[in-house]
Amino acid sequence: MSSSENGLAVPHSLPRDATAPFNADHADIILRSADGVDFRAHKLLLSMASPFFQAMFSLPQPNPSSLVPSSDVKKDGLLVLLFSEDEHSVGMMLAYCYPRALCPEPVVNSVEEMKRALHLASKYEIPEMETAVVRRLQAEEDVPQPVRVYMVAWSLGCRKTVVAAARHTLRTPFIAGTDYEELDAVPATALARLVNYRAACVEVLRDCTTNLAWMQPDLDNIQAQCSNEACASDETTVRDLFWKTWWAEYFRDAYQILKDAPNERALTIPEAVASAVSKASQCSDCRVHGTVTAAISVSSLRLSQELGKRLSEVELKTPF
Ligand SMILES: [Zn+2]
Repeated sequence: MSSSENGLAVPHSLPRDATAPFNADHADIILRSADGVDFRAHKLLLSMASPFFQAMFSLPQPNPSSLVPSSDVKKDGLLVLLFSEDEHSVGMMLAYCYPRALCPEPVVNSVEEMKRALHLASKYEIPEMETAVVRRLQAEEDVPQPVRVYMVAWSLGCRKTVVAAARHTLRTPFIAGTDYEELDAVPATALARLVNYRAACVEVLRDCTTNLAWMQPDLDNIQAQCSNEACASDETTVRDLFWKTWWAEYFRDAYQILKDAPNERALTIPEAVASAVSKASQCSDCRVHGTVTAAISVSSLRLSQELGKRLSEVELKTPF
C-alpha cells in the first residue's frame, strides 16, 4: 500500500500490460512479474524453448509448478503465472523463448546481465540463454571480470559457460586474491581448477613457442632459415639450413610477453618484432627489413592459429 496526497492509503496500481510482442490478443497464458507487469505469451513457444515449461503445461492446471505458482484468478480468461522475477527478467526470458523475427535478442554485455541470464537459464531450463552467454564470452570484445561469470556458472553447474569463462580469463593476467562476492557461492575447488587450467595453458604456450617443429610445413613460406652459419640459432637445423636466431628468439620473446595472459589474440607484439628486426640486422643475409617483418607477420599468424587450437584442447575438470 502507498499513500495519496490526503494521507489515505490507496491500493497498488493494477498490473499493467507488457509491450509488444507480449500483449497479443491471441496469447494463451499470462506471466506476471513480481513488479506487476503482465506478459501475454504462447504456451507452445515456451514449451518448445524450455523443458521446464513443457512439463508445466503438460500437467493439470492451475497448480502446475512449485517454482511458479499460478493464481486462482484468471485475467481475460487466461491463467496467470506469478513470477518472483522482475519485469526485466521475465521479459528477457521470454525474448529468448520467442523467434528473433518477433523480438530482438536481449543485450547481455555486463557481468550482472550475464549472471541474470544464467540464473534464468538454470531455473527455467532455457538452453538458449546459456548459449547467449557463451557466445558473448567467445566474442572479440572483452568481458570485464570474467572470473565472476566463471564462479556463477560453476555454482549453477553450467559447464559450457564455465569453460568459456575460463578461456576468457586468459585474456588478462590473473589477479590472485581478488575478493568477489561470487566466490562465496562456490567451493575452493572452483578456484583451484581455474588456477590449474591457466597453468596448463601457460604450458601450452611454452611448448608452442619453444618446440617449433609444428612450424616445419611453413618454413619455406616464411624464410625462417638462413644459410649464414653466423645466423644460426642453437635450435636444430632443417635440411642443412639453420633456423634464424632472431626468428627462434621471436617466439621466446612472445612467450615471455604472453605467459601471464596466454591467449591467441595478442600476437602482434611490437616489442618482440622490434627485437627481431634489430637482431636480423646483424646478419648480412637477413638484413632486409621487409623480409624480417614479413616473416614475423606470417609466423605470428601461424602461432595464433596453433595456440588457439591447442588452448581449445586444454581440459577444465568440473564435477558436473
Ligand atoms: Zn641470417
